[in-house]
Amino acid sequence: MKTIGLIGGMSWESSLEYYRIINETVKRELGGFHSAKSLMYSVDFQEIEELQHQGRWEDATQMMIDAAHRVERGGADFVVICTNTMHKMAEEVEKSIRIPLLHIADVTAAKIKEMGQTIVGLLGTRFTMEQDFYKGRLRDKYGIDVLIPEEEERIAIHSILYDEPCLGSIKTKSKDKFKDIIANLETHGAEGIILGCTEIPLIVKQKDYDIFLYDTTTLHAQAAVDFALL
Ligand code: GLU
Repeated sequence: MKTIGLIGGMSWESSLEYYRIINETVKRELGGFHSAKSLMYSVDFQEIEELQHQGRWEDATQMMIDAAHRVERGGADFVVICTNTMHKMAEEVEKSIRIPLLHIADVTAAKIKEMGQTIVGLLGTRFTMEQDFYKGRLRDKYGIDVLIPEEEERIAIHSILYDEPCLGSIKTKSKDKFKDIIANLETHGAEGIILGCTEIPLIVKQKDYDIFLYDTTTLHAQAAVDFALL
């Protein structure tokens, strides 16, 4: 079994999910007392959040590279960045390490292909929805069309994400807001919805929807186990 190197803390609430899903998946696959070989370097999210909102992406990139070096030095066989947003600098991180990086958009694209879908809605932070690092990868590498919510909806999602799950609380009215936004994307032709922020699965649950939801936290964590057990 390979050792999974997790870069976490963005937020720690979702890193907890990665840790749980990874270990549950190893247990399901191997049985007995098996659990995952892993190590996590968990950042102080306050520092990251400030750099993001000040647009200091160069500094944020250096922090991710430093985190990746730490997990590499710690003996990890590959790196998993436990957030969609911080895949903005995934290519720079990948170039700075000798071990592989398991990209969250690639894992998500594989599931979209498996489902036979070509048009999906994307929910995430404004950075993920509005910039091209995520949508562009899905489009250019996999030919997947990505729809994003209206501007007012993107602003609402972004503030819900930073004000609630990232700070440890979720309101009922936020769940309703997600329902409306997902319905709107469906009207515009989305065949499935990417929960492209690792905290969204804490708010939005498949059981409440007919449309298929790509839970990037679960997909990424399970793919990490698949890779570790190859
Ligand atoms: N966990 C989030 C994501 O998947 C947002 C936190 C962050 O900015 O990294 O995008």
